[in-house]
Amino acid sequence: MAHNIAIVGFGLVGRLAALQLSKHHNVTVFEAGDEQGLLSAGKVAAAMLAPLAESALCDTDLALLGLDSIKRWPHIISELNADVFFQQRGSLAVAHAQDCADLDSFIQRIKPLKGHTYQHLMLHDIANLEPELAGRFNRGVYLPCEGQIDNQAFYQASYKTLLKRQVKFAFKQKVTIKHGEINNRPFKFIIDCRGLGAKGDKPLRGVRGEVARVYAPEVNLTRPVRLMHPRYPLYIAPKPNNEFVIGATEIESHDSEPVTVRSTLELLSAAYSVHTGFAEARLINMQVGLRPAFSDNRPCINQAGNVISINGLYRHGYLLAPSLVADAVARIE
Ligand SMILES: Cc1cc2nc3c(=O)[nH]c(=O)nc-3n(C[C@H](O)[C@H](O)[C@H](O)COP(=O)(O)OP(=O)(O)OC[C@H]3O[C@@H](n4cnc5c(N)ncnc54)[C@H](O)[C@@H]3O)c2cc1C
Repeated sequence: MAHNIAIVGFGLVGRLAALQLSKHHNVTVFEAGDEQGLLSAGKVAAAMLAPLAESALCDTDLALLGLDSIKRWPHIISELNADVFFQQRGSLAVAHAQDCADLDSFIQRIKPLKGHTYQHLMLHDIANLEPELAGRFNRGVYLPCEGQIDNQAFYQASYKTLLKRQVKFAFKQKVTIKHGEINNRPFKFIIDCRGLGAKGDKPLRGVRGEVARVYAPEVNLTRPVRLMHPRYPLYIAPKPNNEFVIGATEIESHDSEPVTVRSTLELLSAAYSVHTGFAEARLINMQVGLRPAFSDNRPCINQAGNVISINGLYRHGYLLAPSLVADAVARIE
């Protein structure tokens, strides 16, 4: 039976929920920002799908959920009305000779996930996987199960697909959810996907992340590369057409003001230390996003009456959202 369902927040989680629910229900989306999605952390993100690397920081069950989610992305993308770059060719973590202690500490913290684990790399292995890193790093690790998607393309394609499915949109509508209604309008179900916008109702905090997006025609890295560094750990995530996302800072702050000079220097210098081709790269933009996080950094699905909330995806939105949204939506279908 088709229900009238409202989705509040058209960020990453809201999009995935709308894609799923609009197959069988009448969906209305409310979003505080406009069609561009600039208020959403998911628009800024590097969109890496990194269960092994993240297992060094998160609980094993979340990393396993990430493995499950990665399997869902190709199907989600196949149902969109436009192409979205997705790849699962693994990622690399490397360190300069003087920083190998950071690499070792990272390796020690990686948790084996159902037979998925890392492979040690020596100089020649790194050159085989990424020829442009030949001779630059003596040691590293390869994380074969990892992937990434092009989030900018996903944002565009998901909106286009939902318009075709007759989903109704109310942009620039910062709404409140009260007594199971939105601005006194009843819905059978309300999916609360407000991310940090729900901070007034839930014990959320923002974790500031800054990234640079560059066009670098002299760089031909084919997989995400992490640089382990005591002060400036960073990743470089290749996107289509020689674009790269370089990130990300992780600052315990709710401040969404523009990127600082300090973060810019750190991110871009570290990228240059990985590949000198970044010297001639063109800076497309520097952006800030606030990751919505609970105190334990774990995501949470919560149902109160007809309101289902999915929140607290912290630094794992792309990694975990497909499985979490499937779980939440199953409560309706
Ligand atoms: C720099 C950075 C890098 C990241 N890299 C990765 C990565 O590589 N891999 C990964 O898995 N994750 C990554 N993340 C994390 C990921 O982006 C987030 O976990 C994810 O975006 C959270 O999704 P969300 O839908 O809950 O929130 P958001 O994407 O922030 O969306 C929330 C939406 O709700 C809207 N909203 C809020 N309040 C209201 C209201 N009252 N009414 C209507 N609309 C409202 C907002 O405008 C916004 O559009 C990164 C995040 C950042 C900031």
